[in-house]
Amino acid sequence: MSNTSAAPGTAKISTFVLLIVLIVLALSIAALGLAVNAFLAEEGTLAAYLLAIGAIAMTLSVYVLLQSRRHVANIKIANPAMMTTIECRKCGVKNVREFQRGDYVFKELEPCQKCPDTKLMITTIYKEIKEKEKPSQF
Ligand SMILES: [Zn+2]
Repeated sequence: MSNTSAAPGTAKISTFVLLIVLIVLALSIAALGLAVNAFLAEEGTLAAYLLAIGAIAMTLSVYVLLQSRRHVANIKIANPAMMTTIECRKCGVKNVREFQRGDYVFKELEPCQKCPDTKLMITTIYKEIKEKEKPSQF
C-alpha cells in the first residue's frame, strides 16, 4: 500500500483482515463446490450442510470486506475541521470558533466585549483532528 497518510497500524490491519477474508472466501467456494459434488452424488443432506456452510462463510467474508472498506472510506471522508482562535490583546480573552471564509491570522475583528477600544484579532488558524473511537474488533 502506498497510502502514507494512513496510520501505520491501519494498513497492516486491513491487509490482515483481507487475508482472512480471502481464505474464508476460498473455503466457502470449496464448500459450495463440495456441495455440488454431494448433490450430484445424491447426498442431499450433506449437500445442504455444505451449501449452508459455504453460503454463511461467503456472506460473512463479503460483509467483513464491505465493513473494512466502509471503515477506510470513513477515515478518508472525515476531514479535520478548520478552527480559528480569536484573542483580545488587551485582556487576553480567547475564543475558538469554526473557520469562516476570509479568516486569516492577524485579521482584526469586532471590538472586545470587555475592552471596547481594542479589537479582537485572529491569532491562529488550525485543523482540529477529531479522535475517532477505536474499532472494538480486531
Ligand atoms: Zn479585551
